[in-house]
Amino acid sequence: MKELIVASRNKGKVGEIKELLTSLPFKITSLLDYPQIPDVVEDGKTYRANALKKAREVALHTGQWTMADDSGIEVKILGNAPGIYSSRFAGEGASEQQRNKKLFQMLQGVPLWRRQARYRCVIALVDGKGQELGVVQGTCSGSITTKERGKNGFGFDPLFLLQRYHKTFGELDPSIKAKISHRARALKKFRLLLEDAL
Ligand code: IMP
Repeated sequence: MKELIVASRNKGKVGEIKELLTSLPFKITSLLDYPQIPDVVEDGKTYRANALKKAREVALHTGQWTMADDSGIEVKILGNAPGIYSSRFAGEGASEQQRNKKLFQMLQGVPLWRRQARYRCVIALVDGKGQELGVVQGTCSGSITTKERGKNGFGFDPLFLLQRYHKTFGELDPSIKAKISHRARALKKFRLLLEDAL
């Protein structure tokens, strides 16, 4: 069976991607299976550039088809920050909890109705030589709560509120996130891209 590598070591991300890409004619692995491959420096100016860079570097190390997800959270009142800097805006090496705390600080005093936000996920696919086979994206709208709620998901999920459900992704059952999230939406398009590329 052909291998498809997910160019990430983020367990939350890798878990969601694997869950949503079942029944494909690929053995899906990730950088958790390749500890020897160094981390890719994410210095692109766009999600697309970062996703392509991550996918290419891993493909060039392994010779395998590779996909990479570059994602982030965009808060309207912050001019769509932290966006592509979502994993780094609280400092290199900051934990998920420290990032959540930092986001709360940046929104201190802002009422709930002005805390609109959007998750964005961009996924790139490259072949074993690092050549681009396509890029897709998905978004999911919500807002930022004033305190963490729930333990499901990862990253900003306990503070990302879905108006329709009156719950955060931290509180919602993961099966709902798997249907409506930015990543789920991007992966739906990604499946078609993969079928076309095969
Ligand atoms: P990157 O794609 O490696 O640059 O990291 C994106 C960052 O955005 C992650 O480290 C998380 O902090 C955040 N993020 C992206 N997608 C999600 C999600 O589905 N839930 C929670 N946080 C997310």
